[in-house]
Amino acid sequence: MLLLDEPTTKNFINGEFLESKTSEWIDVNNPATNEIVTRVPKSTPDEMQAAVDAASAAYETWSRETVMARQQIMFKYQALIKENLKEIAKNITLEQGKTLIDAEGDVIRGLQVVEHLCSITSLQLGETLPGIAKDMETYTMRVPIGVCAGITPFNFPAMIPLWMFPVAAVCGNTYILKPSERDPGASMMLVELAQQAGIPPGVINVIHGQHDAVNFICENPAIRAVSFVGSDIAGSYIHEKASKNGKRVQCNMGAKNHGVVMPDANKENTLNQLVGAAFGAAGQRCMALSTAIFVGDAKEWIPDLVERSKNLKVNAGDQPGTDIGPLISPEAKKRVLSLVQSGVDEGASLVLDGRDVVVQGYEKGNFVGPTILSDVKNDMTCYKEEIFGPVLIILNADTLDDAINLINSNPYGNGTAIFTTNGATAKKFTERIDVDRSASTCPSQCLFQCSRSPARRVVPRGHQLLRQTGNPVLHPGQDNNSAIGRKRMCHIRRPRWPCRC
Ligand code: NAD
Repeated sequence: MLLLDEPTTKNFINGEFLESKTSEWIDVNNPATNEIVTRVPKSTPDEMQAAVDAASAAYETWSRETVMARQQIMFKYQALIKENLKEIAKNITLEQGKTLIDAEGDVIRGLQVVEHLCSITSLQLGETLPGIAKDMETYTMRVPIGVCAGITPFNFPAMIPLWMFPVAAVCGNTYILKPSERDPGASMMLVELAQQAGIPPGVINVIHGQHDAVNFICENPAIRAVSFVGSDIAGSYIHEKASKNGKRVQCNMGAKNHGVVMPDANKENTLNQLVGAAFGAAGQRCMALSTAIFVGDAKEWIPDLVERSKNLKVNAGDQPGTDIGPLISPEAKKRVLSLVQSGVDEGASLVLDGRDVVVQGYEKGNFVGPTILSDVKNDMTCYKEEIFGPVLIILNADTLDDAINLINSNPYGNGTAIFTTNGATAKKFTERIDVDRSASTCPSQCLFQCSRSPARRVVPRGHQLLRQTGNPVLHPGQDNNSAIGRKRMCHIRRPRWPCRC
């Protein structure tokens, strides 16, 4: 039952923040203290239907709004997000636990999407081909598809919702967002700002909950497209269920990102990058570099890696100097600890043990210190499952070919990296590596548009893009675009916008 002295998170339907009439509520706790921050409703079927009805009605006018008018809203929206960045970041640290600087990076990454959308006037251009046949020309137009929905995870509570609803809306769609029930605050602040920027009532709506809300989205006939970001288990379920109901679906799911360390790499730089990429955000990043493969003599650097990792400061995310904040929940901590133990039981060496860390003043928090398992083999549970905590596992390989084969045999996708100063090695790696395993179509907004020509209708199909990104370091707001010799990351999930799939 709802205790009325706790603040509650509202539904956002047809431009209004409405208290839910539900009798089922989910506690959102501060991960550093486990004190309740807010309670999130499991929105009732009537409330969810009201959100869809509002989105369907708004679609009639919003889809016919001019591109210029939608663009103007994005100009205002990006300015409002910038003005409120620190407040949103504070809420993220409170509900999700990550460090304040990391939380600001979370907002900035999403803000960059909104900034990009300010060029919608050129991004939404169609294509023409005069003279395709005698007395015939062909052209394509990018048009919205209707009511779309997004289901988001806890680990980037600002960036991932901002991948979704602004992109859908600027293309003329309307939206139902179901944020993670574990940290919905940033989403609520962001939709409020969208409203202030001029998004009309009904264009963006927020419902809350877990399985029932997800099933509602996958089944509701008025919802035409579904975006999901989160774990494999939920993503596979949503992909199947929403597809069966005839919706466009994109699911970006779990990961096991490998980094290959060659003996010719710059040692100092490599170890710093590994520490940041493995333990930053307490390892709760889909792009965390959670698996290192040391090739040949590079394994002699492991003791130095352990020493550096020991220096990381574990504390509440709002405390100055914190490197590693708490995990999202006691259950998440329990799961991480049991995967570490499985590694020990199956024969790996626990060269750094962060399991018993105690943070003064935050004894009830879900903290795990930096942990390193070496001598891991590919049949161990800690290798086969995504750990999603501050745990780096290390495997050894004799040659680069062995390392590449190992990565290509792993069922997970997302990203991979190599540390080397040899350009030929880097080139071979980028050519032979295969990390495109996610069950998704184009993960950008082309899900939210269809291209039509008088003669044909083009639907999205999967595509690949090899992209070099910055290294995931402790503070994602400060990525550095590394030179090929230092680190190269192939990242296949996020295409340039607009992709032409
Ligand atoms: P999660 O799958 O538990 O939750 C994501 C969303 O799905 C939430 O809104 C939740 O309410 C819903 N959900 C959870 N379990 C469900 C189920 N059984 N059936 C239907 N819906 C369900 O994920 P999480 O723990 O919030 O996020 C962490 C996961 O997300 C990690 O696996 C991480 O790798 C992944 N992730 C992937 C990307 C990417 O781009 N590939 C980005 C960020 C996070």
